[in-house]
Amino acid sequence: MRLDITRILSGEVDKLDFDVSFPASDDDGFSYFGDWGIEFKDEIKAVSHIKNNGGYISMKCDVSAVYKTLCARCLKEIENSFSHSFEKGVAVELTDEENDDFIIAVGGIVDISAAVCDEFLLSFPLKELCCADCKGLCPKCGKNLNESECGCESEGDPRMSALKALLSDYE
Ligand SMILES: [Zn+2]
Ligand SMILES: [Zn+2]
Repeated sequence: MRLDITRILSGEVDKLDFDVSFPASDDDGFSYFGDWGIEFKDEIKAVSHIKNNGGYISMKCDVSAVYKTLCARCLKEIENSFSHSFEKGVAVELTDEENDDFIIAVGGIVDISAAVCDEFLLSFPLKELCCADCKGLCPKCGKNLNESECGCESEGDPRMSALKALLSDYE
């Protein structure tokens, strides 16, 4: 996702707005989100506002995406949306080796794909449930307990069953 900010760098304008979207995988089809178990429905959207404040260039970026994933308890497919905002400085070159607070504009172009992916990785929910009180799957038969009870006997307290076993020996 490459934003051309040459008009800011040349002093022609103070402010540029971009409304862009990009696929969650690179040109070779390699997913940026590898084994996360999520699938993006459409492209990742990013609305960027780049501003020159008297020589200091800053970028505010709102990213959003709609994605599909599986409930962590019952494995049902769920669809969710994610949105997040972040800000960074934009520099033409860096004197310090690397600085995560800045994005470098190489030849007047700011490539925000890596920064957007980093923000996703940092703020994406790791586990998601289809509903707050998802009952999950039966550990014995694997049935989805949200749909109906399966009739398997619950394990109960292991100490109680040990006691019951003891007692039955006396009978
Ligand atoms: Zn669930
Ligand atoms: Zn069961």
